[in-house]
Amino acid sequence: MRIVLLGAPGSGKGTQAKKLVAKYGIPQISTGDLLRVAVRDETPLGIKAKEAMEAGELVSDAIVLDIIEERLKEPDAFYGFILDGFPRNIPQAEALDNMLNTIYQPLEKTILIDVNLDNLMRRLAGRRTCADCGQMYNIHTSPSRLTEVCDECGGKLIQRADDNKETIGHRLKIYSSQTEPLISYYKQQSKNIVIDGSGDVDTIFNALTEVLDPLVKSQQQIEAKTEEKEVSKTETTTKAKKKVSAKKKVASKKKVSAKKKVAAKKKVSTKKKVAAKKKVSAKKKVAAKKKVSAKKKVASKKKVSAKKKVAAKKKVSAKKKVASKKKVSAKKKVAAKKKVSAKKKVASKKKVSTKKKVAAKKKVSAKKKVASKKKVSAKKKVASKKKVSAKKKVASKKKVSTKKKVAAKKKVSAKKKVVAKKKVSAKKKVVAKKKVSAKKKVVAKKKTKR
Ligand code: AMP
Repeated sequence: MRIVLLGAPGSGKGTQAKKLVAKYGIPQISTGDLLRVAVRDETPLGIKAKEAMEAGELVSDAIVLDIIEERLKEPDAFYGFILDGFPRNIPQAEALDNMLNTIYQPLEKTILIDVNLDNLMRRLAGRRTCADCGQMYNIHTSPSRLTEVCDECGGKLIQRADDNKETIGHRLKIYSSQTEPLISYYKQQSKNIVIDGSGDVDTIFNALTEVLDPLVKSQQQIEAKTEEKEVSKTETTTKAKKKVSAKKKVASKKKVSAKKKVAAKKKVSTKKKVAAKKKVSAKKKVAAKKKVSAKKKVASKKKVSAKKKVAAKKKVSAKKKVASKKKVSAKKKVAAKKKVSAKKKVASKKKVSTKKKVAAKKKVSAKKKVASKKKVSAKKKVASKKKVSAKKKVASKKKVSTKKKVAAKKKVSAKKKVVAKKKVSAKKKVVAKKKVSAKKKVVAKKKTKR
């Protein structure tokens, strides 16, 4: 059931909402209550809202819509809710419609609790609220048993800060200007129902339940049907599941028995294997023991023989050492002797060599003397030879020059002879030519005479 209680401040919406919660088991969502809690707890939102509330003004739509959106998401609002004090104007009503339509949960009814203005003023001035549990009383119409003490929880009854005469008047003006238009808004949607709110609390409540019971019944019928459907669905599914599970059980039993058989076979075979392995391992152990004992025997024998060998080796080595020591000492002696003799030899050799060197030096100096002598004589010879050759050269040069002179003279005379001859022959030729030409002239003269 999703409903809105409409009505002026003091019309008794809060009181009736609490009774409806008790009857139908759905939550009352009061924006006034939520804002008062926020103000009391001094939340950022409460701090923002406080001033407007104390002045009897409406809190901004943004704040109120935020609060209401969060509250409607709570799980207790899933099966229905009673909105009290919200919406307070047309924009809030439109925002609410959008919100609910998107989750396919539109409002079902709006109920206006109609109270005249005088009555409202009297109720608001006499209203008291429990500070602990929020239970409401009215000193005129529904007083608590003890003055200023809550009947429900024993809490202190207080008058709301905005329930003073000045603020009440302002709140009622705002109601008529901003909230009353909602009546026609919801009439247009055919959702609004008006009940008389001037009677006592129970009379108003009866009037309310007369409107809401059929709604709840139809709702319950719908829910029952859907439940039936769900049950039948679940039944069919459970039957199907049972079948499946029975099949599974059979299959699993088969599997289990098959597994058991396999396991039993495995056990038998494993036992056999184990037994066989044990036999084999026992045999192996025996064989291994035998081997070990044999090895031990061999090892002990080896040890004994090794020890013997070692002892023998030690003896041998000791002997060898003694022998080698002897050899070494003998060798040393020999070496010492050799050294002595070698030294002697060296000394004697040195003596000999020094003698030889002296002799050689003597020889060399003698040779040098001879050589120098030879050089001197050779030089002398060369010098004499040079003198002789120089003399010869001079003599030969003289011969040559005389010969050359003679030759030159001969040449000159020869040339003179040739020139003379040439002169003679030339003269002869000229004479001959003159004779010829003369003859020719004579011949020619003879010819001309003829
Ligand atoms: P109420 O308890 O419903 O009378 O609300 C008390 C005060 O809370 C009002 O006077 C407003 O200041 C504020 N209030 C409650 N509901 C609304 C709303 N829907 N929109 C704006 N202000 C609200």
